[in-house]
Amino acid sequence: MLIDIITAFPGMISAVFGESIIKNAREKGLVSIRAVDLRDYAEDRHRRVDDYPYGGGPGMVMKVEPFSRAVEAVKERAAGFSSRVILMSPQGALLTQEKAEELSALEHLIILCGHYEGVDERVRLYLADEELSIGDYILSGGEIPAMVLVDAVVRLIPGVLSRTSLREESFSGKLLEYPQYTRPREYKGMHVPEVLLSGNHEQIRQWRYSEALKRTLERRPDLLADDDNSKGS
Ligand code: SAH
Repeated sequence: MLIDIITAFPGMISAVFGESIIKNAREKGLVSIRAVDLRDYAEDRHRRVDDYPYGGGPGMVMKVEPFSRAVEAVKERAAGFSSRVILMSPQGALLTQEKAEELSALEHLIILCGHYEGVDERVRLYLADEELSIGDYILSGGEIPAMVLVDAVVRLIPGVLSRTSLREESFSGKLLEYPQYTRPREYKGMHVPEVLLSGNHEQIRQWRYSEALKRTLERRPDLLADDDNSKGS
């Protein structure tokens, strides 16, 4: 998979993808991630990517032409790939595990990061195939949301993580994950549940299932309710 992140602040992106699971995925050749500097596609010599809002009001708005030229350029460089353009925006659909799974099957993601007051509406209308939000709060730019999206997607690309570790995770089914323990067996009077030390795989499986269910009911009953709705329809 090829991922192009178009941003006026490419320095924010590079560090994160040089560590941990994403670094390994890149080294294995499973994904290639590029931070594309929006300013390289500005039209004037001051490399300006923002301007005052029509109609007045606070802050600056990111211009449409640099985004348009950058998208064209990265599509050209990835000729033959099927590309999806995603605008990070607090007004977009909420990013879910299901969406991350859908995107992990694509060949080329182009992610557009806004900044300041936001982006010219024509970026949304003419360039973006979809808009995604990472939650109901406002961040200063789309760079951190883009990193969240890339992390969620890349770990799902086949070969990046083991299949089994993905299968049991929270949100991959309808339940939150069961509690996990590692050594030591006892810490400050807190013990690892006996059943996990029993070696009885069937009992462990049942315990984990019932803990996952209990936990989901307590913390996120909406996940179970959603599931009932989808069965009903
Ligand atoms: N004035 C805009 C918010 C601009 S925030 C409004 O009220 O809708 C600046 C940029 O940060 C946005 O263009 C977007 O790219 C990014 N951003 C901020 N919060 C985000 C969120 N929750 N999810 C995804 N992107 C976000």
